[in-house]
Amino acid sequence: MALRPRSREDQLSPTLNEQCLSQGRRYAKYSDSLDSSTRFFNNLGMKSCTAVSETSACNLQPPTDLAKISEKIVAGQRITRQEAEHLYHHADLLDLGRLAAARRQLALPGKTVTYLIDRNINYTNVCHTDCTFCGFYRHDARHPESYVNSRQVISKKIEEALALGATRILFQGGHNDELPYQWYVDIVEWIHQTYPAIEINAFSPSEIEQMKRISGKSYEQILGELKQAGMRGLPGGGAEILDDDVRRRVSPKKIKADEWISVMEVAQGLELTTTGTMVIGFGETIVQRLNHLDRLRAAQDRSTAKGLTGFNAFISWPLQLSDDTSMGRSRHAQSYGATAIEYLRNVALCRIYLDNIVHHQASWPTLGAEIGMLALHFGCDDMGSTMMEENVVSSAGALTKETWSLSPEQLRTYIQQAGFIPAQRDTSYQMQPLSLR
Ligand code: SF4
Repeated sequence: MALRPRSREDQLSPTLNEQCLSQGRRYAKYSDSLDSSTRFFNNLGMKSCTAVSETSACNLQPPTDLAKISEKIVAGQRITRQEAEHLYHHADLLDLGRLAAARRQLALPGKTVTYLIDRNINYTNVCHTDCTFCGFYRHDARHPESYVNSRQVISKKIEEALALGATRILFQGGHNDELPYQWYVDIVEWIHQTYPAIEINAFSPSEIEQMKRISGKSYEQILGELKQAGMRGLPGGGAEILDDDVRRRVSPKKIKADEWISVMEVAQGLELTTTGTMVIGFGETIVQRLNHLDRLRAAQDRSTAKGLTGFNAFISWPLQLSDDTSMGRSRHAQSYGATAIEYLRNVALCRIYLDNIVHHQASWPTLGAEIGMLALHFGCDDMGSTMMEENVVSSAGALTKETWSLSPEQLRTYIQQAGFIPAQRDTSYQMQPLSLR
């Protein structure tokens, strides 16, 4: 595939951004293509868009080296960090999308796009971690808006989810010093025994670190006990950018990059399902994004070399900013966040670079279902989940604040309109009988 180098006219403008969106909407009418992504790009008679004009430190030469990198990707070969950096700086948006779509076809041939029916339960909003981008938490447990869900409340939420056909709950919350370690084990055990049909994916690595701090136990002990109680996986939150310079700036009290990876590797060793995540838009550089991707790719190599599944999926999304967060109120707020175009560039680059993670999810809650549909043409094979009751991202101003959930019917419709075949799955990407509730 011949790649076009980025041109000066390719600089992002709101007009081009709007063009991308309206072209995407028009494309939604073409739903019966044999090769959806090829047809998608062929139908875009638009000038492609690029998002970030950061000076590249790499010494490859566009466009010659773009063609060589392209050949490697289409042949299923791994690209180097330098090549990824070169692609990021020089390939245009639509070429990145084509390459990512080709890579998806190598990993998962066909037109199937999966989705999951699940519910978030944010069991407490009390948190001492004070992430600068978070509008969800209350620092003081005695704040009038602070809460810890009772078992009665959790029951009601699970029963509502089951009635909608949910197969999983994501059980996550703040770092609440008032909850003893045994509370976590007991609540997982009680949910598992009361609702054995629902799969429990619970606690980000950062919450596991909190449990380590209050219990003095090792990651192995904690994750082993939670698994014994009925937990089946870790959702993968709290990764943001796995680069400690970024983390010191935006979430200095949170788990460090290597520790996040260590928790995940212990979980993978226990055969708990895990997801790799990434949030862009903290003002990070491409070098710092690649530091993040390198950590994930290397960890996945180590796990798969041991015969483990490792991360069974990867998902990225752009940071949401609102005046409810200290980052949103900062005088530097304009330099944070990421446009839809930047998100799509990152989605494509991640599919290409993380060549050892099979499933890549589109993120519709932050930029809307239409951008989620576009992401399916930039290498994603999964539309994520119904996201009932998402609180953390929506509290920071995501589109989910008003439209915090999509029904299974809506997810299927969006997938079909993007030109793919919807299929319901569970956390392990096993297909499920179609739920039409
Ligand atoms: S993002 Fe999570 S860890 Fe950070 S302040 Fe919010 S609830 Fe706490």
